[in-house]
Amino acid sequence: MNILFMGPPGAGKGTQAEKIVNEFQIPHISTGDAFRAAMSQGTPLGIEAKSYVDKGLLVPDEITNGIVRDRLAQPDCDKGFLLDGFPRTIAQAQALDGMLAELDKKIDVVFNLVVDRGLLLARLTGRRICKSCGATYHVIFNPPKQEGICDKCSGELYQRSDDTEEKVGTRLDEYSNKTAPLLDYYRNKGILHEVNGEQDIHQVTAEISSILRGQS
Ligand SMILES: [Zn+2]
Repeated sequence: MNILFMGPPGAGKGTQAEKIVNEFQIPHISTGDAFRAAMSQGTPLGIEAKSYVDKGLLVPDEITNGIVRDRLAQPDCDKGFLLDGFPRTIAQAQALDGMLAELDKKIDVVFNLVVDRGLLLARLTGRRICKSCGATYHVIFNPPKQEGICDKCSGELYQRSDDTEEKVGTRLDEYSNKTAPLLDYYRNKGILHEVNGEQDIHQVTAEISSILRGQS
């Protein structure tokens, strides 16, 4: 079973991906990890990618696609994989279809975790971090005993500059503008499943898992 996970920042994609790869015993392929591995192992594509990253430039699609292809060609992906963070554009999605076809594979199912924008904003802007020990809290979902103070070390809690309402709003808009066409791409193939990501974590996992079991 070859699975693709999509969902906006704050939808709980990482948490769900972790649970699903454990249950189905397949590798979790995140593009971030694949990039770091290729760069640290010094593969030809990794070296090329690093030359862009070091200059602060965007890595071109051919290199990104190549790194994903190399990763998906590894033997641990033979029994399936969960891909996360790629593709981000229609061009990448088409490239992915092409490289999988060469490997005699295809994406079997795509999950999109759907969470209301207001809730995403609440989840993402409520995060607070301890200045001293780095412990993380959430003003609504995991508040410290005393407001603004770390339970563990009494350090001062702060909000990362990326987590302000304005920055988070921009991130969410960018995400939905970019991925709307991708969702259509997979919807038209008949493999897109929209899952309500506002449910309890375990319910979300159970829903994804039951869809996957129905497929195999
Ligand atoms: Zn602390």
